[in-house]
Amino acid sequence: MAIERTISIIKPDAVSKNVIGKIYDRFESNGLKIVAAKMKHLTREEAEAFYAVHKDRPFFNDLVDFMVSGPVVVMVLEAKNREIMGATNPENAAEGTIRKDFANNTSENAVHGSDSLENAKIEIDFFFNPEEVYVRTIG
Ligand code: ADP
Ligand code: MG
Repeated sequence: MAIERTISIIKPDAVSKNVIGKIYDRFESNGLKIVAAKMKHLTREEAEAFYAVHKDRPFFNDLVDFMVSGPVVVMVLEAKNREIMGATNPENAAEGTIRKDFANNTSENAVHGSDSLENAKIEIDFFFNPEEVYVRTIG
């Protein structure tokens, strides 16, 4: 079976709270492996392109403003992360999820995660060259 890969982004709110390591730990503690990672300050053009699927939504401009407000940490993870992230609105996020514990509100919600395998591949290609994504051969 092919290994499932997905993207996670630690958003500017969580980076500014200095909880990068705590969020890495949530993934690792739940058995996910980080196979690529980098810090990046998105340009407006990059944020608009990344969230193009939401371009007609009323929150699009605020979302882009927020995502360029500071650096983010982009990761490729092996295996699923949506359950670990929690619901978009942290008030609806399950106990023990990243958004329940670290999000401010529906907009500043600590992390992004790919919503399907198909979009995961597109999002991985958006941020990483193939040689930047590693095979974890030991362990
Ligand atoms: P998710 O990140 O859970 O997949 P969406 O894809 O629906 O959620 O939305 C992308 C991002 O846009 C959210 O993570 C959040 O930062 C922002 N967002 C979504 N819905 C709203 C809203 N109603 N008001 C403000 N921001 C929102
Ligand atoms: Mg989404």
